[in-house]
Amino acid sequence: MEKKTDIVMSGIRPTGFLHLGNYFGAVRNYVRMQDAYTCYFMVADLHALTTLNETRELKTHVRRVMAENIACGLDPDKVAFYCQSHVPETAELYLFFNMIAYKGELEKTPTFKDKVRLQPNNVNMGLLTYPVLQAADILLHRATLVPVGKDQEQHLEIARDYAQRFNQRYGRDVFPEPYAFNFGEALAKVPSLDGAGKMSKSENQMATLYLADSDEAIRKKISKAKTDSGGLAGAAVAGKAESLPGLPPMSDAVSNLFQLLRLVASEDMVQKFAADYAAGTIRYGDLKKELAEGMVRFIAPIRERATEIQNDDVYLRRVMEQGAAKARASARVTIELAKDAIGLNYI
Ligand code: ADP
Repeated sequence: MEKKTDIVMSGIRPTGFLHLGNYFGAVRNYVRMQDAYTCYFMVADLHALTTLNETRELKTHVRRVMAENIACGLDPDKVAFYCQSHVPETAELYLFFNMIAYKGELEKTPTFKDKVRLQPNNVNMGLLTYPVLQAADILLHRATLVPVGKDQEQHLEIARDYAQRFNQRYGRDVFPEPYAFNFGEALAKVPSLDGAGKMSKSENQMATLYLADSDEAIRKKISKAKTDSGGLAGAAVAGKAESLPGLPPMSDAVSNLFQLLRLVASEDMVQKFAADYAAGTIRYGDLKKELAEGMVRFIAPIRERATEIQNDDVYLRRVMEQGAAKARASARVTIELAKDAIGLNYI
């Protein structure tokens, strides 16, 4: 198939187990895009250093994240699937972008403020310049489409600023503007099971469904998920009246369960529970059972396949080497263009 001209780039940090948010926010779209576009997907091991004090587990995390992506359907022969630290050109472009990144702007980034709150004793420069490194990751391949979840929207804005700034400062159109991509739909935000916030690798593990969770763990987490006392009354008690399209107002916790159900159940099943909810006859135990079985059906094959891949040293090494070679070939072209624009071309 002839590939479209847009270049695709995205990455995931190897800081823990992949979860449903990573899948529906990112990996699902990697797989959907890999045939039609030239794609660069990476395991962001350098980004992980901003929060990991202990790096002994890094190797295991990197290999698992790679295996989990492949188990979800990502094909390393169709894309460049690589580790960030295997492509040193990333660091070179990061250095160039640091010259056009302003400290005051970076200090205002909400993700930086969150991290400062989470690790007040380790406010390193890597945390502050996280969006600069991310812009370098994306623009290293002059990518325009970035399949990510909603939490990354603001970082994309920063990457666009740097692309524009670089082009303006050095008077050449080296970098295109990258945009977060979800096939024209709103960016995904997979909610956590406790009714607050989003699923994430490290925070609140009981409220997050991981692709490595056992069937029992999945059932247990879902059975403990928050609900309310049912129907409109429940929403009123919860004090929040945000509704899903076509449904009466509902509490955050219930709205989250419906959102999760939509990911793994048939439309008929979702409609049945929606009708029960509207009629005030919904039984959350039944909804949770349906949701749990849907999640088990979805997660179990990925988990099993990921374990097999993770144990295949020879295969994983080949994937990493092949990915790095493809990514470096693209990166070198960009670095030459950037150096030439800056005037770092004396010989
Ligand atoms: P995490 O926040 O779990 O550490 P990363 O920062 O490595 O995940 O992000 C990897 C990708 O997964 C990004 O594209 C991010 O937007 C997406 N992502 C992470 N959590 C969620 C979520 N709960 N819903 C949707 N997308 C998510």
